[in-house]
Amino acid sequence: MKVESKYDIIIAGGGLSGLSLAWYLAKGGYKGEVLVVDSTFAPTNDKTWCFWTNKEPPFREIIYKKWKKTWVSVLDYSTFRYLNEYSYYCIRSGDFREYVLRELKRHKNFDLLEENILDFSANKNKAVLLTKGGDTFLADYIFQSVMKPKNLDTSQIKYPLLQHFLGWEIEACETAFDPETFTIMDFDDEFSPGVGFMYVLPFTQTKALFEFTVFSDKVLDKKVYKKKIKHYLYHTYGLDKEHYEVRRKEYGEIPMEDRPHIPLYESNIINLGSAGGMTKPSTGYTFTRIQDYTQKLAQNLIQGFDPLPPRPSKFKYRYYDLLLLHILSNSTSDSLRVFHSLFKKNSLDDILRFLGEETTFTQDLKIMSSVPYIPFFKAIGNNLKR
Ligand SMILES: Cc1cc2nc3c(=O)[nH]c(=O)nc-3n(C[C@H](O)[C@H](O)[C@H](O)COP(=O)(O)OP(=O)(O)OC[C@H]3O[C@@H](n4cnc5c(N)ncnc54)[C@H](O)[C@@H]3O)c2cc1C
Repeated sequence: MKVESKYDIIIAGGGLSGLSLAWYLAKGGYKGEVLVVDSTFAPTNDKTWCFWTNKEPPFREIIYKKWKKTWVSVLDYSTFRYLNEYSYYCIRSGDFREYVLRELKRHKNFDLLEENILDFSANKNKAVLLTKGGDTFLADYIFQSVMKPKNLDTSQIKYPLLQHFLGWEIEACETAFDPETFTIMDFDDEFSPGVGFMYVLPFTQTKALFEFTVFSDKVLDKKVYKKKIKHYLYHTYGLDKEHYEVRRKEYGEIPMEDRPHIPLYESNIINLGSAGGMTKPSTGYTFTRIQDYTQKLAQNLIQGFDPLPPRPSKFKYRYYDLLLLHILSNSTSDSLRVFHSLFKKNSLDDILRFLGEETTFTQDLKIMSSVPYIPFFKAIGNNLKR
């Protein structure tokens, strides 16, 4: 079958970034014709998205859990820390998809199509989406989160780091967790190569997600993450395999590289989401950046303007990221010392403000002066030319 259909906007990829854009367009009263394409719209809970904010959180109605208290442990520093200004939230990808799709189905100008996307092309007037089935769809603009930028030159990437993790959502047969306290980072000080830590999201006294997470350039055999989780459950909570069931697994590889900023796939085709490089390189967090951008983009389109292309972070934050990536890539012991000082000498609110790129220069200086200088001097020396 060969179909050629025309839309004002095509959203290619109905994951976090594509559906966020669709949501803000629909809720803002966008009047144009919109097509959203994904290989499947089935609501799978394959991702648990967490983020922090000191404002009204997006998608409040489907927030699965909120925390104000965390546990952190690195080297000889292990403690509870409190969030005052910020809160840490979690949304499950299945809930998000179901919620947004329900809304889109109420809007006659939004079409949903389950198809595999093969490629895109563009001429100066129209952007074209080609499906694997051979159909073509035309639009003024395509917003795509399914393909890496076409002209991505990987030789320009100096630190090809990944944040990789395996998570087990477990149900314990007896009360085991404090649902008010999540574990932001419990470092495995012996782990190498790379930096390894456990991240724990307790949902109830018996249900929690345990993710063994590593910052390094190579993923591990799945057995290694599993062993780490089992070991942690036993040594931290006294739970062996008779005491819990694994209800769900979550695996991720999030790019933490210093990728060049490439806003366009081609003219009139704009890159969104992880494929579009919206992940903060030094942390892997992407959720808030996607919300900030898609919200502004939707407002722009609703007002009838040309789409606002995604902008890179401010120079200072890109530079800080580069320094942190250098340390994470080159020395596990220096990385642990940096995290140790960062957590010990700063409030969690200040750290999150810094990682969320909301700091003044004075606040940056306070954070930078709290961490050991030598690893940063080495990193600066290595990045003078960038
Ligand atoms: C397991 C996991 C957990 C994460 N947790 C967090 C977190 O806690 N906080 C945070 O800030 N970030 C997190 N991230 C990073 C980031 O927020 C997510 O990856 C987020 O889903 C990125 O949104 P996206 O729209 O770019 O990609 P996706 O949400 O992956 O959407 C891409 C969509 O494109 C579709 N698609 C792909 N190829 C094709 C094709 N050829 N044809 C048709 N459709 C196609 C897919 O089906 C998918 O629906 C996590 C990532 C992972 C993998």
